[in-house]
Amino acid sequence: MTTQMEDPGALLRTAGLRVTSPRLAVLAVVDSRPHIAAEDVAVLVRERLGAVSTQTVYDALRVCTDVGLMRRIEPAGSPARYERRTGDNHHHLVCRQCGRIEDVECAVGHAPCLQADHDHGFLIDEAEVNYWGTCPECQAGRARLG
Ligand SMILES: [Zn+2]
Ligand SMILES: [Zn+2]
Repeated sequence: MTTQMEDPGALLRTAGLRVTSPRLAVLAVVDSRPHIAAEDVAVLVRERLGAVSTQTVYDALRVCTDVGLMRRIEPAGSPARYERRTGDNHHHLVCRQCGRIEDVECAVGHAPCLQADHDHGFLIDEAEVNYWGTCPECQAGRARLG
């Protein structure tokens, strides 16, 4: 599923955004670490660029999300996570123990979860499904403890 990221500068320009080094770094970091939390993005952006304010990183995350270059997911009880895989209505597996997140394809083909039983007149464009459970590592850890 991993593809080489297009030229991040071109991505920004196509989206109508000014190309800035924090935005380029934020795109590259999120591309290499799917489902990364904002504070971890800030750490990795600083490793690349030196001093960058947290606000600058958060702003870059917000504008990139607003124009659809990134998707923001917010599993309950977890800080917001960011990923570059957008527009395919994929879902997530979330480990209750360690917070690990994995992508899962939509359960029954192309965006079937958009077929709500009753849409109450809403124009629905996205469905968010989180499957909660325990990842293999946490299962193994529990088995050892037990
Ligand atoms: Zn886990
Ligand atoms: Zn994902």
